[in-house]
Amino acid sequence: MADELYKTLGVSKKATDEEIKKAYRKLARQYHPDRNPGDSEAEEKFKEISAAYDVLSDPEKRKEYDEGGVFAGFGGGGQAPFGTGPGGFGGFDFGDILGSVFNRGGGGRGQPQQVRGRDLETEVSLSFDDAINGAQISVTVPKSSRCQTCHGSGAKPGTSPITCPRCGGRGVENQGQGLFSISQPCPQCGGAGQIIEDPCPTCGGSGLTQQSKRLKVNVPAGVKDGSRIRLAGKGEDGPRGGPPGDLYVTTRVASSPIFKRLDDGNLEVAVPITIPEALRGGTIEVPTLNGTKKIKVAPGTKHGTIQRLRGEGPPKRKGGSRGDIRYRLEIAVPKDLSEEQRKAVDELAETLNGGDPRAELLRKAGR
Ligand SMILES: [Zn+2]
Ligand SMILES: [Zn+2]
Repeated sequence: MADELYKTLGVSKKATDEEIKKAYRKLARQYHPDRNPGDSEAEEKFKEISAAYDVLSDPEKRKEYDEGGVFAGFGGGGQAPFGTGPGGFGGFDFGDILGSVFNRGGGGRGQPQQVRGRDLETEVSLSFDDAINGAQISVTVPKSSRCQTCHGSGAKPGTSPITCPRCGGRGVENQGQGLFSISQPCPQCGGAGQIIEDPCPTCGGSGLTQQSKRLKVNVPAGVKDGSRIRLAGKGEDGPRGGPPGDLYVTTRVASSPIFKRLDDGNLEVAVPITIPEALRGGTIEVPTLNGTKKIKVAPGTKHGTIQRLRGEGPPKRKGGSRGDIRYRLEIAVPKDLSEEQRKAVDELAETLNGGDPRAELLRKAGR
């Protein structure tokens, strides 16, 4: 019976602290209300997970629990947090719960929670050149903004929110006692510490209205496909005057017909060279990001040899330096030869006079 909390986290009773932490983080991410807006089952699950972790991550509490001590489970199931308006998941900031679980004993208890606005996610498509050089891109994001009628308070103009009678304005409630006490947001006011009796007619009490907003995003030079840019404070406004969330912009970068981006931040280009160039060497012209440059081909160059131009690649995100362009020299072998060319090759073969280059190989193989 006394292993329910372990089951909640999907770990065995012998799980190490590290395993418990890992399992918790994984589940918390999966069921986080930000990921499951409006899904009350996920919300319940999230609370259960957090409550289980609260006990199992604390050696004292875990010991007590393992020994069959009474543990008043998690109340849960209370009424839905109020303010589930256009802002989607109203109520309280789960980020704060995570924070308080990870940094137990931290301050802030007993303070009404200011509810932070939701983070927003969007994507921008960039050309290869824009990704390399950086660009300013306009994005349109649907976003909840502070209601103009009530200026974000959620209360009908002329009225004011009242202090929550259940928590006395603290915004949190303690469940259980002593060692086992857990703070959780007040179910009546959703952690705000205040209740709106007369909701604003425009926003229905959430303090937010839904709008699209056009924003300019400065995409830094050197972003890759899938880079995530964080614009602090550009997310949704917080309900009832809370601070805004952040906007995350994921970049989708078009590929280039010639430059291939490598994981190490450099670029690679395949450059064909002729057989005479490979044999004799020479200087060849190659494309760079903004023009062309000359590079040397050494006499006797092998197929697949890499020549670098240092600092000609894309800007690195850290340190302000630039990556390299790697030129992969590929010997172009013609498929068809004219009579004249075949003769020339025959002559070359005679003068090379290298004997059979596979003789050594076959000898080593014992053939
Ligand atoms: Zn309003
Ligand atoms: Zn309350």
